[in-house]
Amino acid sequence: MSAEGALLEVSGLKVYFPVEKGIIVRKRVGWVRAVDGVDFQVSRGESLGLVGESGCGKSTTAMAVARLEALTAGKVLFEGRDLAALNPTELRRARKDFQLVFQDPWSSLDPRMRVRDIIAEPMQIFARRGELDLDGAAIEARVASLMESCGLSKSFAERYPHEFSGGQRQRVGIARALALGPKLIIADEPVSALDVSIQSQILNLLKDLQRQFNLTFLFIAHDLAVVEYFCDRIAVMYLGRIVEIASSSQLNHMPLHPYTRALLSAVPLPDPAKERSRKRLILKGDVPSPSIERAGCPFRERCSEAMERCAHEAPRLSPPAPGGSGPAGPGHEVSCFLYQGN
Ligand code: SF4
Repeated sequence: MSAEGALLEVSGLKVYFPVEKGIIVRKRVGWVRAVDGVDFQVSRGESLGLVGESGCGKSTTAMAVARLEALTAGKVLFEGRDLAALNPTELRRARKDFQLVFQDPWSSLDPRMRVRDIIAEPMQIFARRGELDLDGAAIEARVASLMESCGLSKSFAERYPHEFSGGQRQRVGIARALALGPKLIIADEPVSALDVSIQSQILNLLKDLQRQFNLTFLFIAHDLAVVEYFCDRIAVMYLGRIVEIASSSQLNHMPLHPYTRALLSAVPLPDPAKERSRKRLILKGDVPSPSIERAGCPFRERCSEAMERCAHEAPRLSPPAPGGSGPAGPGHEVSCFLYQGN
């Protein structure tokens, strides 16, 4: 049953990729566990950020939610319907309601198409199939309106992607994502390829559009400062699992998991005095390979607070035990024995 108000519910999501060996006869010798049992919900109008280092599984989670990556296990409920159970026609229709904004606006736009055609194309495809009630004039008007909403002058309609800056190209990508009137936007590192000065403009645009079109966001980024600014809640991922989830302010002021604390300690502070005096938590080593099956806590090799128990038992994502290290807000969950009592 769908949780009240939840637009998207993901439960037990696993995405494994086979590791094969052999030149003539390929044989599977293992799995890369890119996403290894992820659960979260996103309410209507909310923005949930997935954050973590490269290879933590955040983008694969986003692709699996959009059904652009096959699920090994788990469910993705969108408005209560399991996307994994839809046939190709049903899935194509459902895609009208969830659209993607990609990291690299340059490679996500066809360089041979003019901006007006790039934005109009999804509407034309759905209109041709009788799944969208818009004629040519109405599509033209909607293209103009979307360009205006995304801060693009109507005079740009006849231009090609190479005539734009990176920020303008991302605006075109966003206008295209909005063309079919989606309810959910899956934004995969939407500002990480842009100059810092442009990042805030695009983030503010996305916030304005969220209010204007009542959008829900699944927002993927490796930069905790960006996610904190944009999102209502944040899920921190490590080795294909969520290790902590909380409201943005709770995570910022009361991070619990040692990995979250280390990530936050690397975010620059605007106050130079505070920045100089604060202590950085440096993580040991690299993220271990997701192709090795491991017992215990997936973070234990890099954790400065690991205990004996962490080597053979895996902590569950759960609210911190009362009386632990400070008050946790509602919905704050962490996957660490430091907060789970005995
Ligand atoms: Fe560190 Fe143990 Fe907590 Fe894992 S469970 S984060 S190893 S203290």
